Parts: sequence; C-alpha cells; structure tokens
Amino acid sequence: MIKLYNSLTRTKDEFITHEPGRCTMYTCGPTVYHFAHIGNLRTYMMEDVLEKALRYLGLDVKRCMNITDVGHLTSDADTGEDKMLKGARREHKTVMQIAEYYTDAFFKDCGKLNIAIPEYVVPATSRIADFIEMIEVLIEKGYAYIAEGNVYFDTSKLDEYYVFNRHEAENLEVGVREGVEEDTAKKNKTDFVLWFTKSKFEDQELKWDSPWGTGYPGWHIECSAISVKTLGEYLDIHCGGIDNAFPHHTNEIAQSEAYLGHKWCPQWFHVLHLNTSSGKMSKSSGEFLTLSLLEEKGYDPLVYRFFCMQSHYRKSLVFSWEGLDGAAAAYGKLVARIAALKPGGTADEEAAAPLRSSFVSALENDLNTSLAVTALYDVLKSGIDDATKLALISEFDSVLSLGLIKAAETARKAAEKKAQTESSAEFTVTCGREGAEPALIEEVKGLLLERAEAKKNRDFAKADEIRSRLTEMGISITDSKNGVSWS
Ligand SMILES: [Zn+2]
Repeated sequence: MIKLYNSLTRTKDEFITHEPGRCTMYTCGPTVYHFAHIGNLRTYMMEDVLEKALRYLGLDVKRCMNITDVGHLTSDADTGEDKMLKGARREHKTVMQIAEYYTDAFFKDCGKLNIAIPEYVVPATSRIADFIEMIEVLIEKGYAYIAEGNVYFDTSKLDEYYVFNRHEAENLEVGVREGVEEDTAKKNKTDFVLWFTKSKFEDQELKWDSPWGTGYPGWHIECSAISVKTLGEYLDIHCGGIDNAFPHHTNEIAQSEAYLGHKWCPQWFHVLHLNTSSGKMSKSSGEFLTLSLLEEKGYDPLVYRFFCMQSHYRKSLVFSWEGLDGAAAAYGKLVARIAALKPGGTADEEAAAPLRSSFVSALENDLNTSLAVTALYDVLKSGIDDATKLALISEFDSVLSLGLIKAAETARKAAEKKAQTESSAEFTVTCGREGAEPALIEEVKGLLLERAEAKKNRDFAKADEIRSRLTEMGISITDSKNGVSWS
C-alpha cells in the first residue's frame, strides 16, 4: 500500500481509495496564456509519475485535468489582470487563438517529457453550464450571495476555511493578504468570486448568459465543477503545485463540500517549487525558462526529467545549468550501460523479485523517485543476467518514463554506425604526386575519405560536390576497388 504525504493531515497517510482497486485523480491544468516554464512542467511530471506509480501498484486510475482558458486573474485572489486577456494583448490575437496556441504548446512539451495525457482533459469554456448549475445550488443553500452584480462565495458560512495553512503558513502563498485592490462588495476578506458580471476588463472577450447577467466564471469554480461532474462526488486524490494550495485549493474544497453536503477529497498532493539561484521561477518575475530554451541549448528534454526524478517532489528543487550538465552526463552513462546489455533471452523471475521489491518500496514511500532511480542502478550493478536486467529496467521505466530502452537502442545503433565508419577509414588513399606538401596530402586525404563515406551512404550529391572541389584545386582522382589515388 502506498503512503503519501497529505497536505490536509500534514502526515504521510496510507492512500485508501473510496472504491477498492479504483482511484479518481484530479489535476489542476495550465492557464493557457503563455508557455509553461520548467517549474510548471516539474509539477506535471511528478503528477505523471504519481499516476503511473498508482497504476503500476495495481489501481485502476481515472484522471481528469482542466485547461484554464477563462477567468484566471494574475493574482489568484480575484485581483490583477485577466491572464488570458493579457496574453491576447501581448500577441495581438483573440483569447481563443491564444488558448489554442498555448494548449497545443503545453501538450507538445508534455510529449517531449514523456508526460502521459490524462484520460479526461476539459477546457473550462466547455463546461459553463456546469459552473452555473453549481453556483445556483450554492446560492440556494445559502453559501453564496450576489453583490454589486457579481456572485461571491460566503466563507463565513464554513466551519473551517483555512484547511491547509493552520501550521504551514510559511509554505503557502498569501494571495488574499497581498490583495491590494480591496473588493468592497465582499462581505468577508476571504470571500471569492464565483461569477463576474461586473468586469473591470472592458474588453473581456468571452462572456456567457447566466441567471445573474452576462459574464464569466471565477477561476476556482471551474475545478470544483469539472472534477465533480467528471469524476463523481468522491474524489480520491487532488494534485497541484504548492502555490495552488491557497487560495485555489482551499476555495475548491469550500465550494465542492458546500455543494455536495459531505467531505469531498481526503488526499491532497502538492509539488514544491522549482527555484533558480535568484529565487522562485515564475512567468512574471525572475528567470522564465522553457523546455524549448533547454532544447536550444542542446539538452534532451528527458535529461530534465532525469534531473527532476532525482529529487523528491516535496522538496524545493534548485535549477542550475551545472546541475543539468551533471544530469546529462549521468543520463548518458546510464544509457550507455543499458546499451551494453545483450538483448534477447528470458528473464529470471526469481532473481528479479528482490530488485523489484526495492523499487516498489521506493514508490510506496511517498513516491520517492530518487530511491526508485537508485533501484534502477542496483539492477545494473547486480549479478543477474542481461535479459532479466533489461526486463526490470523496462518495467521500472514504465513508471519513471526516462525513455531508457529507446535511448539505449539509439546508442547501440550509433555505436554500430561508428564502427562501420571506422572500418571505412581503412580505405586506401594513394598520392601520385611526388614532393607534395604534407598539409596538402592530409587535406586531400580527408576530403577523399569524406567522399568515400558519402558514396557509401548513397549521398551522391555530396560525393560529386567533393569531387568538383578537388577539381577546382587542380587535383585529378582515379577510383579503384579498395581506394583512390590522386595527382
Ligand atoms: Zn484547480
């Protein structure tokens, strides 16, 4: 049974699902107004490993993620600018064009990082009727009120509002307390908007009719409604970045439990921040590193995944280029060791069992991915045969998703090609001109070997190009069976 740290109880709890053998999992998805930074991607990667680990441990996981394409303001507490409008203005596009472009970019990044797409991906704009229904019930039950045209959730109606930060305030964002623009329509400082009809954004593009007038939903309601309508009344585990714990997740719990009339989700999984030496990574301040930037600098995205897997999700991770270089070197060596194993044959189940059990223990111990990676090295170090090693590595990598088997295959093929190229170097090049300068001999030899290689690869255009270059240099060549002579 897996134990996971639970932000609600602040202890490592045995993860028990509402229905044995089944698990419903909800993930707060991206607000698609800009590229994801690598800190956001770390969170999605750790949630991906969580889902794969739960499946590996035998649970039937049903997972849902929303796409925020409306309603998210730059401060999570209903203040600041509208993120989607900000993106649209920045790029002179419509909000829907921005949403489409960055949703696509997000999934491309996920693909490169081997992050599996959840079974249900739900854009907020596709579920407006559900949000309205939920808000109607909240008003009926007395948990929501209308003031100055907007609908607010009344937090004073709850027995407990600060569910996450009773003792861990320092770890949580302080959205409401930072609020510089005090909303005078709110009865309590912690109340939040469920539906906006009085928008301060004159050019708000996306609006829908509602019982309270034309407007758009608040950010928090979308996750409550999408989760309840897609995964049912009892959610087993809710995931997100730690900065979502307050106020976003706090508000989600308030809305969902008020709506349902019972407890909603007992297990909360929060991934800590990725920091740079200059502080927390964010899109508005500090360094904004994207996966494309890492690729431009020559890093394989899976090296970044490897870098993240070596650290625990509940620790802040400090990103540095030196750290990533270290991960790249270690990843390369790991792949080379796997590439050196001989494929084929049958795995020895008895020999595999103890190695598998240390991998399982690592996962069950609060998803300790760094110990899981160690378990993978232990397989390589062990005295078992290559077939069993390969079977275990492939099995472990179905959870870690480091692309190890594929990378090893590529490395093996590259090594074979290199060996072939080296054998082509035995190709003889004879100089028929007496007293030629050694530098010229070397240069011509280099070109002729390159031409021979091009011909071998059936790249005749390149072979011809080299031949004309030699002609221009005043050199004539004669091909023979095992080489070439020139003068
Ligand atoms: Zn959410």
